[in-house]
Amino acid sequence: MAREVWLFNTLGRRSEKLEPLAGGKLGVYTCGPTVYNHVHIGNLRTFLFEDLLCRSLRFLGYEVTQVMNLTDVDDKTIRGATEQGVSLDAYTAPYIDSFFADLDAMNVSRAAHYPRATAFIPQMIAIIERLVERGFAYESDGSVWFRLAADDDYGKLSGFKVDAARVGERVANDEYETEDVRDFVLWKGAKPGEPAWPSPWGAGRPGWHIECSAMSAAYLGETFDIHCGGVDNLFPHHENEIAQSESATGQPFVRTWLHSEHLIVDGQKMSKSLGNFYTLQDLLSRGVSPRSLRYLLISVHYRQKLNFTFEGLRAARAALTRLDDFGYRIRHAPESASGGERIRTRVNSFLEAFAQALADDLNISGALASLFELVREMNSAVDAGELGLGDRASVLKALDQVDEVLGVIHMSWGDLPLAHGAERAIGDAEIEEQIEARTAARRSRKFAESDRIRDELAARGIVLEDGPQGTRWKRR
Ligand code: AMP
Ligand code: ZN
Repeated sequence: MAREVWLFNTLGRRSEKLEPLAGGKLGVYTCGPTVYNHVHIGNLRTFLFEDLLCRSLRFLGYEVTQVMNLTDVDDKTIRGATEQGVSLDAYTAPYIDSFFADLDAMNVSRAAHYPRATAFIPQMIAIIERLVERGFAYESDGSVWFRLAADDDYGKLSGFKVDAARVGERVANDEYETEDVRDFVLWKGAKPGEPAWPSPWGAGRPGWHIECSAMSAAYLGETFDIHCGGVDNLFPHHENEIAQSESATGQPFVRTWLHSEHLIVDGQKMSKSLGNFYTLQDLLSRGVSPRSLRYLLISVHYRQKLNFTFEGLRAARAALTRLDDFGYRIRHAPESASGGERIRTRVNSFLEAFAQALADDLNISGALASLFELVREMNSAVDAGELGLGDRASVLKALDQVDEVLGVIHMSWGDLPLAHGAERAIGDAEIEEQIEARTAARRSRKFAESDRIRDELAARGIVLEDGPQGTRWKRR
C-alpha cells in the first residue's frame, strides 16, 4: 500500500494530497537541460530534487515513470551551432554526453525516457494544427502564434493577468520576462542558414514551449500526475505549456506542479548569463567529491533557496563521515545473546519517522534529523554493549533502505585526483577489501605484501589500527 503523500502544488499555491490518476502509478515529467553547454551545479540542484522526488515516491510505495526531455533545438542551441558552423546534432552531442556523465557521477537514478526534441517534431506539428483548428493559434508569415486572447485561463499557474492592450502583439523569443507577455510563438518560419523541418506552414522549427507539451503527451498522455522544474521555468515556459496543451485537448494538463528554488551565489541565481557558475568538472578539479555535493544539494528543502559555499560542502562531508563511521561501527559491533526487542523496535520507529517526513512535501531536514538521531542512539547502544543477536543486520538493513532515497551512503567518494585539499579518493568497500587482503597476507606470513597494502592505504589517508578484534581503520 502506498503511503499518503502531501505536496505543495504551485497551481493554486497549496498543499494537496497526492491522488495518482492510475492506481499507485505516477507519471512525472521533468524539464531537462538545454544542451547548448555543460550543465552547472544550479541545474544539478534541480535534477537532484527530481531524483529525490522520484526515489522518495518509490520508497513510499508508488510506481513512478519519469520522463526528462533534452532541449536540443531552441534559440540557444541554434545560435551555438550557427556560430560554430556545425550541424545541430554535432553541436549538441558532446553536451548530451557530458550531461549523462554528470548524472552518473552524482548517482542520479535514470529516468525511464530522455526524449530529444528533434525526434518529436511531427507530434509538435500535430498539436499546433489542433490549436489552429480550434482557433487558439494563427499563422503569419510562415510562423504560427498562440492567440493569448482566446485563452481565458492564461496565467493560472503564474498568477499573471493578461493585459488587454497587448492583444495581437507578439513575442518571438523562447525566453522572455512578464512584461513581454503577448502572443507567443509555436512554430518559427525558417531563417537562412538555420536548421528547419517541413510543416503545413512551410519550413521552420518549433518554439521551445511546444516541445514539452508534445514530449510529455507522447509518454505520459494528455493528462498526467506531476510536472517539475526550477522556479525560472514557471513563467513563461510552464504557463505556455498549460495554455498549449489544455487548449489543444480540452483536458486538464497536469495535476501537480512542483518547482524547486534556485541554487544561489552571493544572493544571486547561479546562471550562465551572470557568469557566477561552477560545473561539476570545475568542482572535481578543485578536489570536491560528487558525494559531498550530492549530500549538500539534496539536504536543503527544495522550496528553499540554497546558498552555495565551500563551507557548506565541508559540512556535507562531515555529515557523511559520521554516517561512514557509524556504518563501520555497526558492522564491527559485538552482539550478545541477551539482547531484547528494543533495538529493532527503535529501528522500525526510525523508518516510520523517515517515511513520514518525506511524505510531508519531501521534508528532507526532518528525514535527516531522524537518521542522525538514530545514529546517536545506536552509537550509545554499541558503547553500552546493548546489541542483541540480529540487531546489527536490522540497523544495516535500515541504512540500505534509506539509501534508496538518499543515494549517498553507498555512493563512492569518486575517483578524485589527490591534489592538495582533495577529499578521499577511496570508498569504504575498497578499504575493507584491502584490509582483508592485508589480513590474508599476514596470515600467510607475506609481510612485505601486508606492509605494502598498509603503506598504500596510508598514502591515501587511511590509518590502520590492529587490535584484538581485528583491524580498524580511520580516515586521517
Ligand atoms: P535549462 O538548461 O536552462 O533549461 O535548465 C535546466 C533546469 O535547471 C531547469 O529546470 C531550470 O529551472 C534549472 N535551473 C537553472 N538554473 C538554476 C539554478 N541556479 N538553481 C536551480 N535550478 C536551476
Ligand atoms: Zn520543459
